[in-house]
Amino acid sequence: MRIVYLDHAATTPLDPRVRKTMEPYLKSEYGNPSSLHRWGRRARMAIDAARETLAAALNADPAEICFVSSGTESCNLAIIGCALKAPLNRRHILVSAVEHHCVLHAAEWLLPFGYEVEHIPVDGYGQVDPNAVRERIREDTWLVSVMHANNEIGTLHPVEAIARVCRERGVWFHVDAVQTFGLLPVDVEAIGCDLLSVSAHKIYGPKGVGALYVRAMTPLQPLMVGGGQERDRRAGTENVAGIVGFAEAVKIAEATREAEAERLTRLRDQFIRAVLDAIPDTTLTGHPTERLPTNAHFRFQGVPSDSLLIALDRAGIGASSGAACSAGSLEPSHVLLALGWDETAAQEGIRFTLGRETCGDDLQYVVEVLAREVPRIRSRALTAVG
Ligand code: PLP
Repeated sequence: MRIVYLDHAATTPLDPRVRKTMEPYLKSEYGNPSSLHRWGRRARMAIDAARETLAAALNADPAEICFVSSGTESCNLAIIGCALKAPLNRRHILVSAVEHHCVLHAAEWLLPFGYEVEHIPVDGYGQVDPNAVRERIREDTWLVSVMHANNEIGTLHPVEAIARVCRERGVWFHVDAVQTFGLLPVDVEAIGCDLLSVSAHKIYGPKGVGALYVRAMTPLQPLMVGGGQERDRRAGTENVAGIVGFAEAVKIAEATREAEAERLTRLRDQFIRAVLDAIPDTTLTGHPTERLPTNAHFRFQGVPSDSLLIALDRAGIGASSGAACSAGSLEPSHVLLALGWDETAAQEGIRFTLGRETCGDDLQYVVEVLAREVPRIRSRALTAVG
């Protein structure tokens, strides 16, 4: 049976070159980077080099890079850490309605402490309008968070324009760039954000390591205490192997980024066209062009996504019905509800996300399986109703 993994937005395989650069730090180079002896110094040097790689890729200063344990921790630290520094009269936080739960739940976490959280609505493509941000910024607004690209439907947001609105109004701006970093240009100066989150395992790096870009002078209360690591922003002995692997993954991604984005965009568009042609009553979700090169998200009307995911898995195909962290729960996706879909429609969304090893033949196979399985599930659903 053909095996086709199309869930790269959930995670990517570890690049063998990345694993190779990590190996010494899992074996002989075990020093604690805070130690003053040679073992410690070597580990410290490896982290410093990795910090420079990330800073260069993001067009930041190395001092502005804070290594953390994941994209989730990065977003938590950005939202909660920045909000905790807000004066008592500036406790209004704006987050887009389609953010990853690690932003939405971090904002919600603040509610019992006297913060007010407002969701910025999106249009039918799932995009935030900078004017919608402008209209909602108040005298007491402290922080705005809008993601670079949505993990579920792939829609890109005009973060540069939103950053300009935030600057004009003197409000801090966080961007969750977990889905775009390594795939599209992510330049903190071009964007104009104050905080930006990235994660290694989405770019063929190891799981359990991420980073937060913190522009100089941005207020940030550490959430981990008990050590002076990461310039007092994040206590805890660093994940040296993970950080080294992250930097190698960044180097590889940056070297191939443009060509790969072009290849994937071409494949994605062919795939979208083939699916829409082959299967009636199917719609593409999200923006037709302003979307991640890797993302194709569909609604197959009358086809519950869990039934289709099982059928696809039986045919060797890995897809998703939404964010990996909420997969398995039967809650309709908050992203699809934010598009104005009703609960039934929101249970019918399927995400395919392409990656480095995806080829045209794989996608052709997926179209064939969909053309067989979608009508089968539809007729079964009709029989059940009848
Ligand atoms: N933000 C977005 C947009 C994501 O897609 C994810 C992961 O799915 C995260 C944050 C969390 O990253 P991590 O898995 O490294 O915690």
